[in-house]
Amino acid sequence: MSEFSLIKKYFSQVGSKNPLVKLGVGDDGAILHPCDQEQVIVMDTMVEDVHFIKGAHAHDVGHKILAVNLSDLAAMGATPAWATLAVSLPEDNEKWVAEFVKGFGNIATLYGVQLIGGDTTRGPLSVTVTAGGLVPPGKAVLRSGAKAGHALYVTGIIGEAGLALGFRQNRFQLSGQVLSRCIQRFDRPIPRVKEALAIRHLMHGAIDISDGLLADLVHMTEASQCAVRLYEDKLPITGAANAMSKAEDALDFILSCGDDYELLIAAEPESEAELKALLAPLQCNLQRVGEFVAGKDSVLVKRDQREVPLVARGYDHFGQ
Ligand SMILES: [Mg+2]
Repeated sequence: MSEFSLIKKYFSQVGSKNPLVKLGVGDDGAILHPCDQEQVIVMDTMVEDVHFIKGAHAHDVGHKILAVNLSDLAAMGATPAWATLAVSLPEDNEKWVAEFVKGFGNIATLYGVQLIGGDTTRGPLSVTVTAGGLVPPGKAVLRSGAKAGHALYVTGIIGEAGLALGFRQNRFQLSGQVLSRCIQRFDRPIPRVKEALAIRHLMHGAIDISDGLLADLVHMTEASQCAVRLYEDKLPITGAANAMSKAEDALDFILSCGDDYELLIAAEPESEAELKALLAPLQCNLQRVGEFVAGKDSVLVKRDQREVPLVARGYDHFGQ
């Protein structure tokens, strides 16, 4: 199949029609209507053997590449609107494309995203998405917005996606429902878009957890020029961590494994009840796990009240 017939057949109408889009796929460029909101633009790439294993289901790859971009939009407090997509494929594999578009299209439709353009080339398997979202002027939530005195909250449960990866790397055993939940979290993460929009007015700062809770928390404190006290006994860690052997430091693993796509949020301690009430209808737990403090010395307060310096150990593509 030629590149052009592939585009025509699979990419011309993906996702749901978004009112912002005046002209979508099919010309040299897309056209967006002018509007009175600010646009937030995000971008993410996934490469075979780096972000997903060789032989990963095309449907999962299609879902995840858009989900991780929507997670970034969520962290900014933006309503998703459009996306562009670049796919590099080692050989022309129509079946792979069809499954990929299904995964991508399902989540695009779910969040009101319209695919407005893209590119296909031959090369090592990789996918790149640029996505745009809208936010009322001045209302975007930045990672630099945390201040001493704010409480630190985290949505959902941390560590399940990382456990799925560890399982696939034969590091520990998981089975049954726990295994399928962890695999689901890794392969088809659900971005916290609705949750972020429900509490945007209460979030002073936010970041999504892609590189690992510790790494992303450090990104947040560095951008906000403050420190944090994080309490071990408050962390919403998956019970599945019991599957790990004593030889592995479960806490260390879970705080640095990444791929959670939960949100770290800085907000007033007084807004905790309101935050929880707004998130409850979305079946989203919110846990207060620490507080932001002045200075540069972040600490993890252990269960025995010992304080250890908090350092980032998340995934760094260019790290040693
Ligand atoms: Mg992010």
